Amino acid sequence: MTTIVWFRQDLRTEDHPALLAAAEAGPVLPVFLWHPESEGHWAPGGATRWWMDRSLRALAARLAALGSPLLVRTGDPVKALPELARESGATRVHWSRRYEPAAVRQEERLIDALDAAGIGHASFNSALLYEPHEPRTGSGMPYKVFTPFWKACRAIRVPERPHPAPKALHAPERVPGGVTIDSLGLRPAISWDAGLAAEWNPGETGAAARLKTFLDGAVGRYAEGRDFPDRPDTSRLSPHLHFGEIGPRQAWHAVADAMQRGDDAHRRSADKFLSELGWREFAHHVLANFPRTADEPLRAEFKRFPWRTDPAALRAWQRGRTGYPLVDAGMRELWHTGWMHNRVRMVVASFLVKHLLVSWNEGAAWFWDTLVDADLANNSLGWQWAGGCGADAAPYFRIFNPVTQGQKFDEAGAYIRRWVPELARLPDEALHAPWEAPPLVLVQAGVDLGVTYPRPIVDHGAARAGALAALAAFSGKPLPDEG
Ligand SMILES: Cc1cc2nc3c(=O)[nH]c(=O)nc-3n(C[C@H](O)[C@H](O)[C@H](O)COP(=O)(O)OP(=O)(O)OC[C@H]3O[C@@H](n4cnc5c(N)ncnc54)[C@H](O)[C@@H]3O)c2cc1C
Repeated sequence: MTTIVWFRQDLRTEDHPALLAAAEAGPVLPVFLWHPESEGHWAPGGATRWWMDRSLRALAARLAALGSPLLVRTGDPVKALPELARESGATRVHWSRRYEPAAVRQEERLIDALDAAGIGHASFNSALLYEPHEPRTGSGMPYKVFTPFWKACRAIRVPERPHPAPKALHAPERVPGGVTIDSLGLRPAISWDAGLAAEWNPGETGAAARLKTFLDGAVGRYAEGRDFPDRPDTSRLSPHLHFGEIGPRQAWHAVADAMQRGDDAHRRSADKFLSELGWREFAHHVLANFPRTADEPLRAEFKRFPWRTDPAALRAWQRGRTGYPLVDAGMRELWHTGWMHNRVRMVVASFLVKHLLVSWNEGAAWFWDTLVDADLANNSLGWQWAGGCGADAAPYFRIFNPVTQGQKFDEAGAYIRRWVPELARLPDEALHAPWEAPPLVLVQAGVDLGVTYPRPIVDHGAARAGALAALAAFSGKPLPDEG
């Protein structure tokens, strides 16, 4: 009895219950179907496609080593999977559940198509510790605030231990023809990806190596170090988790086990990391239960917010040319590596939404195209948090000051100097606000404002006042007196 295992955002063999159950039942036909149209207007962006190209190759090699190579095809899974079952003689299809709105609708249509064709099917959870329907408030509703959500999750159960990979896979006798990964055209047509290739190793082995590096070092420093963008103190597991090259149960138990072995500080750090995995759970809970939030604010009144259309400002932000060094460093890190430190993500997002009054949707779309960890749930939550219009969001009147954020979290300027090298020779005290530096200091550092590095595209004080006035006018409410 052959089972098709349809791979989606679960590009691994360890802790993959759909694959394990198929392997225990008989021959396995592993399949990947490329059909960006299924994702609607959230089709994979450039950085995602780059990652997927490499991750698929890694998965194909791993499956071939286990005994049943990956079959790659193009086409709508709702049609392609019943067809493949007919061609291969498979009697069942297995997959890992996804929770994004388009993916949920696709699964519903697939189930109808398989039922109509008399083909068996089963879906499994490999992506989350707690599925979106599990935690519920006392009145049976989904959560909109993180702390009670996470408390409720932790009360449900300790996350299950991860499952092992199948020891071997038996290939079916009849294997239909497929296409090559090359033919999917996922690689960039022009070469912009050297920075990504230098930073990342997509695939299950790369994910395991990242986790090991984290466990060997940063996990003990995480609680304190995670806010400083020049320190290697976060796990950088986000793209691996997004593509399912490592599952949250694996990350959870590896860190929880390490926690048992360490001192108090170590335990505090590890616990903080586990709660960040909780934010990932929360993001999926919110998107699955409020599916419109990929495009619309959870707080519906924000649909009427009078965002500005300012293509020049948006472009300056995208290119890292706002004149605010921390913002520019973050946007350039993103462009070069496909990733940005969380603290800086919060600062650049606040800058776009509040200083420039450009909609969070524009920011989410740019991140979608450029992040290697672009994830509809996490990205929507992050942007709506920054915009003050989502679940557990920062209040609108709290506006990050990009200068003081830099002074606090990149005090010696190592992060800014790395990503904005034209400012590298400025002394620390001038680095975060070069426009305030005496002319002689600028000349000595080779900085010619407006020529070698932009002047600020907005004045912080004026932008802050403008954002607060816009909110007051929008909400009709006086604002709290907040510094
Ligand atoms: C505006 C904005 C947009 C964002 N877009 C994305 C996105 O598209 N994809 C994405 O994975 N994360 C996104 N984040 C969340 C966060 O910035 C990244 O998950 C984190 O920086 C990844 O680095 P890391 O793996 O080293 O994280 P670690 O600090 O090591 O955390 C471990 C894991 O926990 C999860 N996690 C951590 N913080 C968050 C969070 N705030 N929300 C949800 N999950 C979290 C991630 O899966 C992460 O890999 C966004 C945040 C903001 C403010």
